[in-house]
Amino acid sequence: MASEKKIENVIVVGGGPAGYTAALYTARANLEPLVFEGFQWGGQLQNTTDVENYPGYPEGIMGPEMMNQFRAQAERFGTRFVTDDVDRVELSDGGVQKVFLGDEEHLARTVILAMGAEPRRLGVPGELELSGCGVSTCGVCDGAFFKGKKVIVIGGGDSAMEDAIFVSKFASELTIVNRRDEFRASKIMEARAREQGNIEFKTPFVAEEFVGGDGGNLDRVRLRNAETGETEDFETEGAFVAIGHIPKSEIVTGQVDTDEDGYILTEAGSTRTNLAGVFAVGDVVDRTYRQAVTAAGTGCMGALDAEWYLRDTPPSPEAHWQPGGEPTEIAPTPGT
Ligand code: NAP
Repeated sequence: MASEKKIENVIVVGGGPAGYTAALYTARANLEPLVFEGFQWGGQLQNTTDVENYPGYPEGIMGPEMMNQFRAQAERFGTRFVTDDVDRVELSDGGVQKVFLGDEEHLARTVILAMGAEPRRLGVPGELELSGCGVSTCGVCDGAFFKGKKVIVIGGGDSAMEDAIFVSKFASELTIVNRRDEFRASKIMEARAREQGNIEFKTPFVAEEFVGGDGGNLDRVRLRNAETGETEDFETEGAFVAIGHIPKSEIVTGQVDTDEDGYILTEAGSTRTNLAGVFAVGDVVDRTYRQAVTAAGTGCMGALDAEWYLRDTPPSPEAHWQPGGEPTEIAPTPGT
């Protein structure tokens, strides 16, 4: 007889707000989720200081502490965590989903992909060191900390324009620094930024280094003129690097449908991918909103979609579902 291997109801890949919320909901539905939260669990919030825009925390909360609480809440209902990075997956259309840590194989009837995205970085000195001390990759998250201050936004796409317009409501002066004279942003976004009284444009300049002051916070940014090669120190208390995001979808590339930038495609209004039993949530799907609260919201959607899939899809006889991997009886959804 073939060796009997436990088949999980749900494996969640990713340990940010989306993954932990998917875990919380599936755990409360008695689906005993197994979460591969990644070695650096917590996602982008692990690199964030104060979070003031997550509802329910009137005094604000530090990003890592918030992720601790998300994790603990999912754990309270029986979520199991593996604090390691998934090496590869073998996804199936309605069959057994396989998740690998090295040679170690884990099987599941459903997978919720919640790997998130990471902001594209410039990769220059001081950028990571001063992250949270004046250097930020999220205008919507951190703009309010720069009330009355002089700041710069680096980038020339829609994200840069959007960050600039948002942050300019707080900053006294804001300068958009772009490496080319032309902007990749849509004309309307560029025009809106130009309409703001306190936004200036500085091109073609490249940020070469972020330099801290005596207090340990950002003091100036070294800019190089991309045409002449001359450098100058630009004094500023805040710098927003807004040069795009990279969805962390490498492990599913070629298996599940993605767009040309690697964002996983889901059916409108749901978290269903093109593969039955495979769901995708959070920033690995979302190129637009990218907030902790929106990621958590789609994490909840993914859990409910997985729960309904398990309820409505009888295990295939070929799958040899084993005890321990038996799908849990799920109570009918109220109102259905
Ligand atoms: P993007 O369109 O790819 O623009 C990235 C910008 O960063 C470009 O100006 C690029 O310069 C610059 N850049 C890239 N690497 C750089 C580097 N190493 N050093 C300096 N500059 C660098 O990314 P995005 O702005 O995040 O937008 C992504 C997508 O989301 C777009 O489709 C956008 O329309 C959409 N979006 C829409 C909205 C909205 O409609 N409200 C808001 C945000 C995003 P080059 O042009 O020279 O390559």
